[in-house]
Amino acid sequence: MFRSNKWRQSSFAALQRVSRRLQSRIAELEKENSELKERAVGSCTDPLTGLFDRRVLHDVLQQTLETAQNYQGMVAVLLLDLDRFKLINETLGHKTGDRLLVAVARRLIECIGQQDTLCRLGGDEFLVILPNTQNIDDASALARMIVDELAQPYCMDGFELFVTASVGISVFPSDGEDAEVLLKNAESAMYRAKDHGKNNFQLYNETINANLIWRLAMENRLRRAVENEEFFLVYQPQVDVKTAQIVGMEALVRWHNGEDSIVSPADFIPLAEETGLIVPLGEWVLRTACQQNKAWQQAGFPSLRISVNLSARQFQEADLLVTIRSVLQDTGLAASSLTIELTESIIMANPAQTIAILNELKAMGVQVSIDDFGTGYSSLAYLKRFPIDTLKIDKSFVNGVTEDAGDAAIVTAVAQMAHSLTLKVVAEGVELAEQLAFIQSCCCDVYQGYYYSKPLTTKSFTELLEKNFPIGT
Ligand code: C2E
Ligand code: MG
Ligand code: MG
Repeated sequence: MFRSNKWRQSSFAALQRVSRRLQSRIAELEKENSELKERAVGSCTDPLTGLFDRRVLHDVLQQTLETAQNYQGMVAVLLLDLDRFKLINETLGHKTGDRLLVAVARRLIECIGQQDTLCRLGGDEFLVILPNTQNIDDASALARMIVDELAQPYCMDGFELFVTASVGISVFPSDGEDAEVLLKNAESAMYRAKDHGKNNFQLYNETINANLIWRLAMENRLRRAVENEEFFLVYQPQVDVKTAQIVGMEALVRWHNGEDSIVSPADFIPLAEETGLIVPLGEWVLRTACQQNKAWQQAGFPSLRISVNLSARQFQEADLLVTIRSVLQDTGLAASSLTIELTESIIMANPAQTIAILNELKAMGVQVSIDDFGTGYSSLAYLKRFPIDTLKIDKSFVNGVTEDAGDAAIVTAVAQMAHSLTLKVVAEGVELAEQLAFIQSCCCDVYQGYYYSKPLTTKSFTELLEKNFPIGT
């Protein structure tokens, strides 16, 4: 009896121990489970906006398509990309960029219905899945609402910021029967919205494919054109406002694309930038322009300054300075006869790197001009810090000086500001005598435009020089 009691007591104690251990293991497992769950949900949401991320998208879309297939319904996919967001990020900083993305996400949530799914695909790309689309007009109406809503100003730190979006729409089953094709087609439509001036939406259709094929063909032709040197330069005179003498010229590239067709840079520079072909092309432009300027100087014309446009892609090249130095050395052109034209967005993209490069250029004796001034985002404080020599006021302002009081005020203010910072001012796009009179009245230093001359071939520019600077006089 005694033994049996003892045995019972020790069995009971052992059972209690096992039970305690089991309970604590159960608690551990529950904790692990809830952590795993949290991680599973957390790993599928974007930490910045709290929206679903790319990983959820595929499953949700696939499931939505299967359901729609069963009841023969329609599903619309809206792919949205912010316009020029990169520029905002680079110029106003990533923190502002992030806050803007959160604000955009909030507006998108307000726009969509309860059954719709909203994902952030990454960067400034969002996707909306509309599971119960009755007809294409539903999707278009939502896209219109999204475009309009996002275009309203965002208030950040007391100032207004503007960003727009381009949206591409594809619809199941007409534009694709699986997730991959639908996404690809929505993306093509979104690019078409960008091509159509941004801040709009486009529906996918077959012609987009035709456009993509055209783009690929163009890229191939451009690639071959770089190899075959099908490019040539034209030169537009830059004229001193006071003396009416030619003081320099801007080199502008043209593409002789077989037979008689000349392609303008606006049609191929963006593609050349995207594909990286701008790097060899840009070096060719720089070399040819410097060679030609040296040739004019050797022919006995006064030393004029040649301006060469540099694209963002070239500015990011690690060996840009080496290239410029070797071009000057090879062609024998003095650095003081070369000006590099950069746009505001290029110089604002990476201010620290820009200052270092501009300082090197200054040390070499090459001048730097800011092209299309007034059309980009730039901080006026940088104008003071960057070693810049010239501001080129964009032709869109110069064009309006005689009719638009706002344009006139901008040109006057930019000229005054530039002069206070001891920068020179070039007015671009002067087409009329009245515009020139205005430019003179607000003391711009140099002008360029059709009023004096359109860009000229080497032969015509040489003739112009001969007329203006008769050799031997
Ligand atoms: P940009 O550097 O601002 O060049 C001035 C543009 O304005 C030229 O157009 C010129 O022909 C045009 N223009 C000049 N005066 C007038 C005028 O009075 N009225 C009007 N309406 N237009 C005028 P273009 O040659 O078509 O070049 C367009 C842009 O392409 C250039 O703008 C520049 O950003 C880019 N570009 C041209 N050549 C090169 C190049 O070699 N490299 C790079 N990266 N970009 C280039
Ligand atoms: Mg230019
Ligand atoms: Mg310009």
